[in-house]
Amino acid sequence: MFLDEVVVEFVSGRGGSGAATFHREKFVPYGGPNGSDGGRGGNVVLIADRAKRTLYDFKLKRRFRADDGEPARGNKTGRDAQDIEIHVPVGTLVTNEETGELMADLSADGMRFVVAKGGKGGYGNLHYTSSVRQAPTISQNGAPGAEVVARLELKLLADVGLIGLPNAGKSTLIAQISAAKPKIADYPFTTIVPNLGVVSVGDETFVVADMPGLIEGASEGHGLGHQFLKHVERTRVLVHVVDAYPIDGTDPLENFDLIEHELELYSKDLFERTRIVALNKIDLLPPDAVDELVHALREKAMDVYPISAVTGQGVEPMLFEVLRLLNESVEPANIPVLVPSGANDDDEAWDVEVRGDGYAVVGKRIERLVAMTKLDNDESLRYLHRRLQRIGVIGRLRDAGAEDGDTVRVGDFEFAFTEDTR
Ligand code: GDP
Ligand code: MG
Repeated sequence: MFLDEVVVEFVSGRGGSGAATFHREKFVPYGGPNGSDGGRGGNVVLIADRAKRTLYDFKLKRRFRADDGEPARGNKTGRDAQDIEIHVPVGTLVTNEETGELMADLSADGMRFVVAKGGKGGYGNLHYTSSVRQAPTISQNGAPGAEVVARLELKLLADVGLIGLPNAGKSTLIAQISAAKPKIADYPFTTIVPNLGVVSVGDETFVVADMPGLIEGASEGHGLGHQFLKHVERTRVLVHVVDAYPIDGTDPLENFDLIEHELELYSKDLFERTRIVALNKIDLLPPDAVDELVHALREKAMDVYPISAVTGQGVEPMLFEVLRLLNESVEPANIPVLVPSGANDDDEAWDVEVRGDGYAVVGKRIERLVAMTKLDNDESLRYLHRRLQRIGVIGRLRDAGAEDGDTVRVGDFEFAFTEDTR
């Protein structure tokens, strides 16, 4: 298989903070709390898209960050941030680079995966009114966003195969049009390394592979591994590269027929595949001679593109045509399947650790709770303390030996331990 892989950082937005405000009306001396909630931070969403063929886009951009949610303004709720939607090829595997855990297998067109979930908006003080607390000054910060370093992997299929006699200029052409080289893996029994590249045309990409040795005995299965030949059979467009000026003095038209015949012998199926001709090395011939060859080849009912793999002349129009043919042959869409969102928000586990100089509470949910607390507001602090007590954190700290005044760390924050919740 050809493997495309890339490590990308996805950062979701943080939630906007809630407001701690009170009604103000003329002649009403003391209005009730009216602080609204902050907006949700943007998610980063991966979408499987059959129109994408490679991970080449990520070579150019390796970090994606969604916007933060808007803070509430008084009684005006903060606006949610927009999600970032990133299209990836069908077949992309998403692995958490830090844990090695497989997060998603985007195996069908239209599948969506929330790779980094946006932080919730913070509550405004309106949220905290109760019979005993009629004028709360408590509000929350928005929840932090998630930072996910993910490895994207894709087993590439060659979309386009190059065929032609040795020396026709296949390798030169691949070098000329390649934007990147995919990794080659899993060819244990072959001596010939397939030559391939990712081609970028407009804002689309496709994979082109040279098929050396297809000719001359390949129809009997020599040279290339069975796997590679299977792979070749999956290509949707073939480009037959014809040398316009063979160094051995052979006739380009006869050479063309030779390869076509070999191809037919090798596989009827491949022979019937969409195919165009690249008449190569036109820089070596006067224009008249090129025209003559083009005409002669067109007689054989083929679409012919005169090119020079060395100078690049004529190559771009040919690539656009290849792309057009590829898009024409796109298979019908599979039924979209929705993938549950990332594991970012069901992480309830927490633990107390004894450190040299104090204690630490670790756990995503607790850390988020603390990060969302406005620590400069006494009432918010007391509220946090009571929640930690209810969850059992204070008790566990006590059991671990914490005493009044000991340092307790949660995420980036530091507190002095106390059991007093008033
Ligand atoms: P392959 O065997 O089909 O992979 O052919 P190569 O790409 O190795 O090319 C064979 C020879 O032809 C090399 O010496 C190339 O430099 C040369 N060649 C390939 N394309 C062109 C071209 O467009 N113009 C000229 N002048 N030489 C070319
Ligand atoms: Mg070659």
